[in-house]
Amino acid sequence: MPAGQAHNTWFPELKDILKERWNSKLTIEQHFDIVNDLNNKLTQIRKDLNIQPPMMWCPNCQKRHRSKFTDISITAMYYALKRFEVCGNDEFNKLLSEWKKYSKSENIDIYGKSKTDKSITKNND
Ligand SMILES: [Zn+2]
Repeated sequence: MPAGQAHNTWFPELKDILKERWNSKLTIEQHFDIVNDLNNKLTQIRKDLNIQPPMMWCPNCQKRHRSKFTDISITAMYYALKRFEVCGNDEFNKLLSEWKKYSKSENIDIYGKSKTDKSITKNND
C-alpha cells in the first residue's frame, strides 16, 4: 500500500458518501447518522486494505506499539465538507456555531457521546 495511507481518512468512497448524503436542511442528529455511516465505511476500507494504525511510542507502556485509529468526529466532517467544497464558508461557520450551542445544551462531545457518562460507571469491587 502507498506510504501514508495509515493517516488517510478521506478515501474517495467517504467523499462520495458526503456528497450524496449532505443537505443543508439536515438536523444535527441526522449529521451524526452520516458520521456513523462514514465511520462504518472507513472501518470496512481499512479492513479490506489491511491498513494498520501507525506505530507509536506509548508513554503508558514505555514501549513501541500500534496506536489506535481515531473515529471521524462531527467537527471533522464539517471541516471535510468545507475542504471538499460540499458546503460554503458561511454554511461552515454556521454549522460550527450551531454545533457549539448544541453540544453545550445536550452535553455531548464531538463523537456524540454524553459527557456525563462517567457518573454512571459501576464499581466492580
Ligand atoms: Zn501502551
